[in-house]
Amino acid sequence: MDDSMYTNYPPGLSPAQQEYLVTATKDWAIQNGLTVRPNPAMLPEGADPNRVLATNAPVTLFPSPFPKVCFEEARALQTVYNELYAAITCNEEWLGKIIEDLVDVDDFVANLWKTHLAVQKEGYVQNLSLGLYRSDYMAHVTPNNAPALKQVEFNTISSSFGGLSALVRSLHTELLTSPPGSPISYPPHPLLQSGVPPENTAVETLSGGLAAAHKAYGPSRSTPDLPLCVLFIVQEGERNVFDHYALSKRLTQFYKIPVFRLASSKILDQTTVSNSNPSRPLIYHPPHSPESAFEVTTVYLRAYYSPDEYKSERDWEARLHMERSGAIKCPSVLNQLAGCKKIQQVLAEPTGPDHLSSFLGNVDPAIVARLRETFAPQYDLSTTGQGRELALSPETAMKHVLKPQREGGGNNIYKSEIPDFLRSMPESDWKGWVLMELINPAANAQNIALRNDGEVLRGSVISELGVYGTILWDKTGKISHNEEGGWLLRTKGKEVNEGGVAAGFSSLDSVLLY
Ligand code: ADP
Ligand code: MG
Ligand code: MG
Repeated sequence: MDDSMYTNYPPGLSPAQQEYLVTATKDWAIQNGLTVRPNPAMLPEGADPNRVLATNAPVTLFPSPFPKVCFEEARALQTVYNELYAAITCNEEWLGKIIEDLVDVDDFVANLWKTHLAVQKEGYVQNLSLGLYRSDYMAHVTPNNAPALKQVEFNTISSSFGGLSALVRSLHTELLTSPPGSPISYPPHPLLQSGVPPENTAVETLSGGLAAAHKAYGPSRSTPDLPLCVLFIVQEGERNVFDHYALSKRLTQFYKIPVFRLASSKILDQTTVSNSNPSRPLIYHPPHSPESAFEVTTVYLRAYYSPDEYKSERDWEARLHMERSGAIKCPSVLNQLAGCKKIQQVLAEPTGPDHLSSFLGNVDPAIVARLRETFAPQYDLSTTGQGRELALSPETAMKHVLKPQREGGGNNIYKSEIPDFLRSMPESDWKGWVLMELINPAANAQNIALRNDGEVLRGSVISELGVYGTILWDKTGKISHNEEGGWLLRTKGKEVNEGGVAAGFSSLDSVLLY
């Protein structure tokens, strides 16, 4: 792309134009459900955040340019990535070896592993497993200036924003296609004439995965038969509820599947597992209708991915209760563990056993090679070696990020802070972290972000692309549903290290492919 076109993007707005566009965007967001619940800290004292109107999700005013080759490659590889993480989850021995090495330094991983072992001892009664994944990337700028797709991470639990990302695409498309000069439109710019963001089918894909699992569950296993449902497990005080509703609405309206939402703290109060029944169906008892009961085909976790959500033993009990039940889990404990950053580092090891080829034995080696190309260098820190050298020297640390086995944003250590951070803990704990080379996306793009507290920020930005995929497989590795579809662009200020919309670092965006 012509550089001058890039640097003059997005077109300048007069203060009046900007205010007009901000107001129009806020109203569009409310009208169309591109929304989140307001931050309780910003409400009048005593107000109930669940009773107060929604506010716009953090969103950019313009779509961001993104290289078409990278976008297409990410999409092309998604079903292979789905297959990879299903295969890892099926290989309990391989996965277990890596996870068992983390249990003495990471209580959260240890508790998840304990949960798996407890169910394994008793015997799993559900052979199917469902993944709703999001693979995240940046377009890395190589020395010869060609963009290369590099993976930031792969998410196997609570992959969010599929419900809102298509709406951002609609917002930007509406702004792009409004007649010039009409109130809701952009000032002219060559890039804005180049077309509209590509179709975004995230809602269809993710709900399609849940519907496939629901169907594959088969008939009720209760006596007498019970009606079937899908259960969303959610966080108390979740602000990103409209993202969930986009999926549950599609499930109820298009697939005609009853969906219930249950806060993780209520699992043990409102669900039961009948132990006298060998298939251990999970039964949901809706509090608003005590005489009715539903058998849960699929448990979809939008909670329980972070240690701070396990406030007491009761939460671990609830997790075990679901895991040992006959419901299909999205994800299972093992599939959640397969998403550990440590696994991603092991997969990316340039020497030693070729794990990728073993897991993807049925895939064309040329495609496996393309998947491997998306890995950025990552290092183990358990022993003396290259990883420790790179992490401890201030000069090389600057090019890296240090990651623990956590999800949801806000957990990483960056650049100059890495050496001191590592030295502040015993060397025996270092193996709980992985070192990853920083991906360097082009940072000459600019955008304007409308945050959900009304703040408007303009500046140089970095964008992260997520591609959604869903897969349903059984214990033997047989895959019955494997789809790719839908994407997410999150954009943040160039100077911000962290990412994550819910964590407050980035804004939802859409792509203008070039
Ligand atoms: P989480 O599971 O908490 O989202 P991530 O691995 O996605 O963890 O890291 C959080 C954020 O840190 C990312 O959204 C991205 O902005 C930044 N980040 C992580 N890894 C890299 C990397 N290798 N290069 C550049 N930025 C990165
Ligand atoms: Mg993650
Ligand atoms: Mg992430």
